[in-house]
Amino acid sequence: MQSSLATTIPARALDALEASLFAIDQAALFFDVDGTLLDIKPEPDDVICDEDLRALLERLAACSHGAIALVSGRSLADVDRIFSPLKLTTVGLHGAEMRDGRGVERRADPRVMDHARKAVHQFVKSHDGLMLEDKGGTLAVHYRRRPDLGALTLGFLLRFGPGDDLAVQEGKFVVELKPARYDKGSAIAALMAAPPFERRVPVFFGDDLTDETGFAAVNRIDGISVRIGEPLAPTLARFLLPDSASLRALLWRLTEARQ
Ligand SMILES: [Mg+2]
Repeated sequence: MQSSLATTIPARALDALEASLFAIDQAALFFDVDGTLLDIKPEPDDVICDEDLRALLERLAACSHGAIALVSGRSLADVDRIFSPLKLTTVGLHGAEMRDGRGVERRADPRVMDHARKAVHQFVKSHDGLMLEDKGGTLAVHYRRRPDLGALTLGFLLRFGPGDDLAVQEGKFVVELKPARYDKGSAIAALMAAPPFERRVPVFFGDDLTDETGFAAVNRIDGISVRIGEPLAPTLARFLLPDSASLRALLWRLTEARQ
């Protein structure tokens, strides 16, 4: 697989992306949420979908005949809160939760984190500036306020995974302990096996390390992988867009072209 470490977005890449996406009515659209559709906020609870984005997602759902899904590290309940009253097909907790194309939901069992929960709570409590987000089926430790504690946090969580049960997922100023058997790539592949996604061209937009398995999954089946924002590390995404605003502008252009 090819990696790239791009610092600028060549105009021809944008043209090629638009050309690839022109057949949007034949695409299956997968979107990460934070940093992709919506800008990252210091407090995860402050993130909320605005009217423009809700209207855009509804338009895209109509254009793609419902082949659209959100693929997030947040829980299903949290994604639903952000996009309410819109309820799309959603992958939550990096794949550990899912509401599939038929509306059937699989929720994570918080007990998978039981043997790590107490120690992680204790670790966060004893380091000023760290924040624990206990999502039930995963435990995320945010170090945005103390970037100097990033390596220590990663080292601590690596005591619990990778293993048969748990794995560590790094992200922007966050390290997360999650069930080992799920990731965004396998969740996208599972959705692609059933209506309304099957036999469409998968397109995945993401911005962070957790999205790399998603990029790999769509690349494997000749889909389109799009990284939002300048990558801090090599990425498997084949296209790059500078920010969530440019992604929105592109999607509006594409839906308007289908009028
Ligand atoms: Mg993200």
